[in-house]
Amino acid sequence: MKDNANKKRGLIFIISGPSGSGKTTLLKRLLANRLLKGKLAKSVSVTTRAKRSGERHSKDYFFIKPQDFHRLNKGKKILEWTRYLGYYYGTKKDFLEARLKEGKHLALCLDLKGALKLKKLYPHSAVTIFVIPPSIKELRKRIEGRCSKTKQEEVNKRIKLARDELRNSRRYDYVLKNENLSQSAGRLKEIILKEIGFKTIAGG
Ligand code: ADP
Ligand code: 5GP
Repeated sequence: MKDNANKKRGLIFIISGPSGSGKTTLLKRLLANRLLKGKLAKSVSVTTRAKRSGERHSKDYFFIKPQDFHRLNKGKKILEWTRYLGYYYGTKKDFLEARLKEGKHLALCLDLKGALKLKKLYPHSAVTIFVIPPSIKELRKRIEGRCSKTKQEEVNKRIKLARDELRNSRRYDYVLKNENLSQSAGRLKEIILKEIGFKTIAGG
């Protein structure tokens, strides 16, 4: 894949961090920001996991069957993918390319594997941001608070994974501690605006 550093193409903002660290919440705030309206879009991944309450097909994820995921992957329609707690997640090539060509900047919530893969594919236009929770105790509280139906076993699995993920934060361009939501959202907006200003002017 050629990343031709074309000035008019959009940038790719990759947000990672443990499940429950606040990526989705921060991204929602970012997308609602008036300075970024119409400029920044959320990438919608495909996943084989079940829909959570409040989630919508084609807005939050494209919820697909495992056999459809494998068909897309085999057909090279998926740029990067991962398996998380037994489910598949992936970024569709046509979805991402269409928006970048339009000049839209894209925001994606990906795990480490996906973040590194996209950074490799788009070295000049990908910016990686790692969201960390203030503590593991607070992370557990947020995961449990998000969905009361999440089983204790699943919460424990997510916490165990989070400990591993936190060790990789230094591989990212930015690390954002999400303690106070408004402050973190403000900081994220500053990062995005700085990168858009810098990279689109520098053309790199
Ligand atoms: P992720 O997308 O990283 O899995 P979410 O955005 O779903 O995480 O956030 C997990 C839970 O924590 C949600 O219920 C959300 O409202 C809450 N949350 C997010 N950020 C904060 C914060 N700074 N302070 C308190 N609660 C938060
Ligand atoms: P969740 O089930 O909480 O929505 O997501 C679980 C994990 O999968 C999160 O770390 C999330 O960032 C990651 N994820 C979601 N979509 C994708 C994707 O398309 N590719 C990759 N690599 N990870 C994804």
